[in-house]
Amino acid sequence: MPKERPRILVVDADNESTQFVAELISLYNYEVVRAADPASALQLAEDLAFDSIMLSLEMEGGGFKLSQDLRQINGHGDVPLIFVTDQPYDSPLLMEAQFYGALFIHQKPYAECELLAQLSTMVRLKLLQDELKDRMAELDRLASTDPLTGLYNRRMFFRRMDEEVARAGRTASPMCLLYVDIDFFKSINDEYGHDAGDKVLQQVARTMTRIIRRGDVLGRIGGEEFLILLPDTAGEAGQRIAERLRQRVEHATIITGNSKLAVTISAGVFHAADPVGLSIDDMVKAADEALYEAKETGRNRVVYRGGALPAAD
Ligand code: GH3
Ligand code: MG
Ligand code: MG
Repeated sequence: MPKERPRILVVDADNESTQFVAELISLYNYEVVRAADPASALQLAEDLAFDSIMLSLEMEGGGFKLSQDLRQINGHGDVPLIFVTDQPYDSPLLMEAQFYGALFIHQKPYAECELLAQLSTMVRLKLLQDELKDRMAELDRLASTDPLTGLYNRRMFFRRMDEEVARAGRTASPMCLLYVDIDFFKSINDEYGHDAGDKVLQQVARTMTRIIRRGDVLGRIGGEEFLILLPDTAGEAGQRIAERLRQRVEHATIITGNSKLAVTISAGVFHAADPVGLSIDDMVKAADEALYEAKETGRNRVVYRGGALPAAD
């Protein structure tokens, strides 16, 4: 969200100078915050987000050094920067300023119009940069989530699973994969309509979200099919979680229009005691086979596949 007024930090030990700049900039609808020494500039950058920084090269410890320190502070890594100096400057100094990320150097006494033009260029750049970042974050979100349930989509789920399987391989930790499928979902659609089906999908997704723990990975893989990866989880615990999920769904009533729907799920649990060398395809296939067995043996069931359950400690 763009802020209402762009905020500019003016850092200069020369109070007359910052006063002048503050008054000049107030011609625009900018908020100006002044700092007379490095410590207060750094503290201000910790507390507030700035859209541009104007910094004197004659600051104690050097303006270049201070600009580097300011850029280390949250959200100021690419804030547009302008250096001001009392001295005439030459090309090498300008190049150095650009090396530190400045767009301009401005020599005092200030040329008002030029300074205002430079500042507004910097602020415009920053606002565009922010907008671009917001849009990219939104695109990322859209590309990785399923719009109906808000869960990870297939692509994102497998990307996350890839990371988790690699990590489990390095640390030789166990993991469980749950393949969950809603029972007789087609007849829910046929009997109550597609909207009711969608509501069921959302409700089941919510139940799953409530049951999983931080660090678990949950995604909607296809129509009414979900995968849940439980890192660092032994077989018994994976089975318990799948069973709890099955019961929660069974006992929840989903109301759509005038109808109360009873929904059940089946789940296949695959436990990889030692995921070293296991491929994602192997794991999904094993969980899918367990799910198939749950369907074949009556539905509303959890079927477990995996190595021997780890001995209790
Ligand atoms: P089973 O117990 O064997 O799993 O039977 P099922 O009816 O659940 O399985 P089937 O694969 O025959 O049907 C899945 C249905 O899911 C068919 C499809 O129309 C429906 N479906 C897929 N995506 C969506 C969706 O986004 N919304 C709704 N409402 N239905 C969907
Ligand atoms: Mg189904
Ligand atoms: Mg299915």
